[in-house]
Amino acid sequence: MKVLLVGSGAREHALAWKLSQSKVVTELLFWPGSAAINRLGKAFQAEDETWQGLAKAAASEKIDFVVVGPEQPLAEGFADLCRQEKIPVFGPQQRAAALESSKEFAKETMKAAGIPTAGYQVVGDFDECEAVALNMLARTGGAVIKASGLAAGKGVFVCQSEDDVRNGIHRLKTSMAQAAERIVVEEVLKGRECSFFCFVGEQGANPLGFAVDFKRLKDGDEGPNTGGMGCYTPVPWLPEDASEQVMSKVVQPLIAELKQQDVEYSGCLYVGLMWGEAGPSVVEFNVRLGDPEAQALAIHDSRDWGQMIASQLGLLERYEPQMEQVARQTVAIVMASEGYPYEKPKQEVQALPSDLFSHKGIDQAVFGASVQADGEVLKPGAGRVLTVVQAGSTFKKARSQAYHEVRTLAEQWPYAQFRNDIALRVADDS
Ligand code: ATP
Repeated sequence: MKVLLVGSGAREHALAWKLSQSKVVTELLFWPGSAAINRLGKAFQAEDETWQGLAKAAASEKIDFVVVGPEQPLAEGFADLCRQEKIPVFGPQQRAAALESSKEFAKETMKAAGIPTAGYQVVGDFDECEAVALNMLARTGGAVIKASGLAAGKGVFVCQSEDDVRNGIHRLKTSMAQAAERIVVEEVLKGRECSFFCFVGEQGANPLGFAVDFKRLKDGDEGPNTGGMGCYTPVPWLPEDASEQVMSKVVQPLIAELKQQDVEYSGCLYVGLMWGEAGPSVVEFNVRLGDPEAQALAIHDSRDWGQMIASQLGLLERYEPQMEQVARQTVAIVMASEGYPYEKPKQEVQALPSDLFSHKGIDQAVFGASVQADGEVLKPGAGRVLTVVQAGSTFKKARSQAYHEVRTLAEQWPYAQFRNDIALRVADDS
């Protein structure tokens, strides 16, 4: 099958790598792709680079199915345009993508479906937001204020005091007024955070597993929020039936509720969870895989994602292999450029190893996001540059090999930023 993958990050590099190994994928095309991704197939050419133009080009190139990595194209209706062109697409239509792009829609859908989540109220102006949040704070000791629209992880304020409430509202007013046209005020959930991932489509949902990510830039959860500096999978501190619980309390009711609204969900689903005494409670939905969680899952999961996706799209017979129950634990560490997340790097960096993206066995990989190729020479760009992933028989072993690789790369790239404590606690505990 001829497959077009949309996106350019390390998450898409991981998806491209899984698809390149699939029994059913014979040709892989990428848009816009990257120096890392394009090694696994060909760049896709479209004269008209609007979403409409891309969907039409996919139809005239006789693409068998499209896989969409990031949320933006989905929020902008790219999947709907592919469907209009009769191209099967693994990525939800715009109405379902609103689970991520509108927190108000996500909360209302959860309420209608009876999915466990924090109690909330939606407000339409800042004065009302202040009154509702202060009231919630007085009643429960906390309140979370969230811009309903997409705000790249910067529109959420967990408040423990009146000052926190006022500061949060001030930030919404001054720097993200558009995303905060509607605001969700919700109760603070207690527990431990993790995420659950699955592929959803005609066969229902195939669980991919759980992961824990590290959002802050610096060790000990200090510093600014980032797109994610690392993660680990699986999550050994969850109960044994955690996957069944999330499937029955969250994923299945969600799919059924969307069906009621005439929406057939097709694509990746990311469930952000707080795991408390009563089990899972949903913090957020995303309509794509996480980054760096996709990179870790790609190495951790030995199943054929190409076959799983094609069968979820109804293009193949039912294919529902179980995850292999081998004792394997996986750690992903992100390396970012100097100055990230605020500034572009200032220092010139030596070349990275030319075999950076050659897989060293099935347990280790480097997935690239912002890596620039100058002929054969690879150099780090700006932002989150790459993710080192390592699987091992224990978290301790996986961690120590991953950090060995990271520190070897850092010898040639001394300005790289990375955390030193990814999966430290879980490695010590397990
Ligand atoms: P992301 O950057 O993950 O996309 P987002 O902007 O979509 O984030 P949320 O995931 O809803 O926003 O919230 C961001 C973070 O704030 C969560 O990962 C969690 O740590 C915290 N948080 C959000 N809601 C709650 C809640 N009700 N109780 C406790 N913490 C919360």
